[in-house]
Amino acid sequence: MYVCGTHRSGATILGVLLSAHPEVFFAGELYKFPVPTWDPGRRCSCGSMVRECPFWTEVVRDFERQSSVADLRRGQRRYESWEALPRGLIALRLRGQELRDHAARMATLAQAIAVRSGQRIVVDASRSPVRGLIYLLARRQGVEAAYIHLVRDGRTYLQSELSRPGLPTGPSRLLNNAFMLAGRWLTMNLLALGLLSRGRLPYLRVRYEDLLAHPEETLGRIGEFLGVDFQSVVAMVRSRTPIASRHVIAGNRALKQSSTLTLWSRPVPPSMINRRSRWTFWIVAGWLAGFFGYRPRTGAEG
Ligand SMILES: [Zn+2]
Repeated sequence: MYVCGTHRSGATILGVLLSAHPEVFFAGELYKFPVPTWDPGRRCSCGSMVRECPFWTEVVRDFERQSSVADLRRGQRRYESWEALPRGLIALRLRGQELRDHAARMATLAQAIAVRSGQRIVVDASRSPVRGLIYLLARRQGVEAAYIHLVRDGRTYLQSELSRPGLPTGPSRLLNNAFMLAGRWLTMNLLALGLLSRGRLPYLRVRYEDLLAHPEETLGRIGEFLGVDFQSVVAMVRSRTPIASRHVIAGNRALKQSSTLTLWSRPVPPSMINRRSRWTFWIVAGWLAGFFGYRPRTGAEG
């Protein structure tokens, strides 16, 4: 299962939540393997250093029997980085051997994770639709991709980005104003829509706000989409049972501070960004936000 959309859209929460099901494994953003997650000194959510985590050392051993971490990294830089977006898109059209080899390596990693965890669904929350599409080339190896487009209210996304500690200063600060952030939200969601919600690709759009406000219904939709019964997870949410993240190596900061998650249904608080940022967002990306069911004066509507 591949999660696409913008950063800070709640993919870690969704992934940890789904991984409470015995058939689902959540690793985080797999595009960050091997760099930086396999670098010495990085920690796994199980508490061990990643290089000492029994799960990941075995996954990497299995992976390296058929492939190499250095080759995987090379393919990521060649086809998956944002600078390589046009090249990635062209390569996807041409389906050349080199890209197929890269897809095979991605599949080998996903399969090593599935085998070692004993779970048939591996969640990759990498978000880039190009990486998501590369998985399609690994069908022959038995890997089937299903796409969840996770959408979060753009105003909350702006708020989360603008209030990030240690915001860059100098020229890169320009990339973090309301206008640029609204543009990024628009671009990421349009790419996910344009590339993945077409043809016969298995695609499901989920709003993060619906996951928070109506977890039972939203998990029901996801379960139907994946062919998994999430009743046991719904029961955990209902009883507010903390859900442990097992071996997540690339999630968000909240997860690094605590390795469990408790979710309960709650209304989504309105965004706290100032009026100007709110209107900037609405002018740049309001039409798409409206299409997703967000309204200018309120939050998410059904
Ligand atoms: Zn671990």
